[in-house]
Amino acid sequence: MLRFLLSCWVLSLSAGLANAIETEPAPNAPVITVYITVDWEGWSLDEENLDAMRRFRARYPYIPMLHLLNPVYFLRPDVDAEQIKAQIDSTLLPIDTQGLHLHGWKLLMQRCEIPYRTTPSFADADERCPGKECGYTVSLEYAYSTEELSKLLACSANLLTAQGFARPRHFRAGGWQFGPKLTAALHANGFLWDSSSLPPSLLTEKWGEDSSMLKLLRRLHPDASVLDQPRLLADGLWHYPNNAGLMDYTSTAQLLEIFKKLLDAKKPVMVTGFHQETAFIYLDKLEDAIAQMEAAAALAGIRLEWGSYD
Ligand SMILES: [Zn+2]
Repeated sequence: MLRFLLSCWVLSLSAGLANAIETEPAPNAPVITVYITVDWEGWSLDEENLDAMRRFRARYPYIPMLHLLNPVYFLRPDVDAEQIKAQIDSTLLPIDTQGLHLHGWKLLMQRCEIPYRTTPSFADADERCPGKECGYTVSLEYAYSTEELSKLLACSANLLTAQGFARPRHFRAGGWQFGPKLTAALHANGFLWDSSSLPPSLLTEKWGEDSSMLKLLRRLHPDASVLDQPRLLADGLWHYPNNAGLMDYTSTAQLLEIFKKLLDAKKPVMVTGFHQETAFIYLDKLEDAIAQMEAAAALAGIRLEWGSYD
């Protein structure tokens, strides 16, 4: 009920603004919802990246984010878990949602008592690396069984809740390495939302056509397109395609081009985002697009809403 009353209040507020700003679409105009997702890789928590996020949040406190969190930060020897939790919390807002992002880190496999596998690597890396950290580029979908992935998801969710995070129900696989095995494992663990596909063409500039990343993605998501929209994968589990990619790979101009394509095709959902570990470099590119997306939507008579998650 509260949510309904708030919606009414927001609608009436929008109506008021529509009178004041000529270009603002009417409250009953079609809507495009843009979802901002953050992949937390498990690599590092550098102040320059966390600070870039905090500054963005201060400027755009009305834009929710879906944090796809990685428990690996907490698994390294001799870390201060309280400090790590505080660092992550410093970037969060109450309007956000906490989900899960996993790579095939050896540390995580060991902690979850799953036999570590070294191939295939989506970055053509040698992941045997005895004695060192490794596994980041191992394809979860290709390297592990459904049972192992199910155990990994349960264990990773528990690692996050043990640190005081919400039980994750949203997911993205590292390197978008997602297929039927992860689908079954997510379903078995009560996940509701996955965003592990993207059009491989968005990565060609940085990865190259001959890279394993592109080859694996073309096998996993051969028909993926920037116009892809949410679909049900299994009972209760929705797939929200990462149809605009992440800002490390999608330029501001490309993001605007995708956004306008979606407006023209009357498609209501765009999923974009960035990596925490490179927020310092790429979050500005997302910010540069915001005003232009708002203007393009207004020009098309379509209302832009920033996606939030139940
Ligand atoms: Zn990742």
